[in-house]
Amino acid sequence: MVRCECGFEVRGTEDEIVPALQKHAGESHNMKVTREQVLARAHAI
Ligand SMILES: [Zn+2]
Repeated sequence: MVRCECGFEVRGTEDEIVPALQKHAGESHNMKVTREQVLARAHAI
């Protein structure tokens, strides 16, 4: 599971979480995040 600073949460496998959070960051925060940045915030599933 990954939680964004704004409270947005994504659950699933790495391959589901990474694109979902990248899309969220781009659309909601106008931010581009790398796969490594997403995984650095990920909690154990
Ligand atoms: Zn967010």
